[in-house]
Amino acid sequence: MHMNSLKIKGGYGEHGRSCFMIEYVAKRYIMFDCGIMDTDPFPFPNINEDEARNTDFLFLSHAHKDHCGAVDHLVAKGFDGTILATKQTLELADIHYKKTINLKATGIGMYKQPFFAVTFGRSGHSPGSLWFLLTLNDGYKFFYSGDFQIDPLLYACDIPKDITADVAIIDMAHDQLMQRAEEMRNDILAMIKRYLTQGFKVIMPVQLYGRGNELLYLLANNFAKEKIAIDKRMMIAIEKMLKDQNWMQKDHRQEFIQSYEAIKNNDIRRADLILLADTHLEKADNQLLVEQLLREKAIIIASGRKKEGSFVCQMLEENKAIRICYPHHSSRADALTLYDINNFKITLPFHSEIKEVWG
Ligand SMILES: [Zn+2]
Ligand SMILES: [Zn+2]
Repeated sequence: MHMNSLKIKGGYGEHGRSCFMIEYVAKRYIMFDCGIMDTDPFPFPNINEDEARNTDFLFLSHAHKDHCGAVDHLVAKGFDGTILATKQTLELADIHYKKTINLKATGIGMYKQPFFAVTFGRSGHSPGSLWFLLTLNDGYKFFYSGDFQIDPLLYACDIPKDITADVAIIDMAHDQLMQRAEEMRNDILAMIKRYLTQGFKVIMPVQLYGRGNELLYLLANNFAKEKIAIDKRMMIAIEKMLKDQNWMQKDHRQEFIQSYEAIKNNDIRRADLILLADTHLEKADNQLLVEQLLREKAIIIASGRKKEGSFVCQMLEENKAIRICYPHHSSRADALTLYDINNFKITLPFHSEIKEVWG
């Protein structure tokens, strides 16, 4: 039936500029995400003026720029519809648009409209991140996981299961990894421990609103004797996020806040474990600080994507940095689990360079 009603505008077979459109009535569209690929000279999803004008609803999964960084571009192309996302996504991504609807991220929710319904739940990836299930009046169902983590440490995930869908787009950013999240976290801890034992300070560049919070929580729980510190930017981001705590698993909220309060004023220059909210270490003050720490004795442990020409890349080449994967996306094992516990007719794993079709 309806496979043709899906238009892939970016994010499948590549990392970034995620954008998927569904024709919900003749020539009118619902869009899921509208991101950029900041490593590409033309970073935008492939949307023309007609498509932008004929899109009535834009659902945003979360605040990362590979999912909502092209909203302004879409508006410039003539988009005049409604944007739907959690309050946190709109706030953290700094989206100021005339027509928005807040989706409440407190568990499974639903947005209903005469022509369709969208069920949503928290996706375990970042503050305010959601997955979506769209049901059209004629019964067509489309599932979109957004960036997804089935087994998060701190973030809340309302695991989608027993869902029937004609087409599912699911996160498999860690497509080469068969490990589960807990094993990956243990590998990171073992690596950090090795360096600390040898007298290194450990510097970890992270995103403002992503794996950094989970890493902070992981470190605080596993390195009680070592001094942990975070930079000012991360502190401001955490304060902003703590205004609404629904993004955290209930059982861990209090503990996370306690860990954060205990370390937030620690002096970075005297710390053993340092988190800097600057994924590629592009800020001049961070580069200065890191160079100084490296001269003493330190290692950079990078856990994000590589950006060609960045300071982190330069440090990797000079063997002053090392890379390891932090699980804040689905691995192949996680994607297969999500596939197994649902009934998707056609599944397209996205957010990686591979182009596979399951089903
Ligand atoms: Zn993301
Ligand atoms: Zn993403």
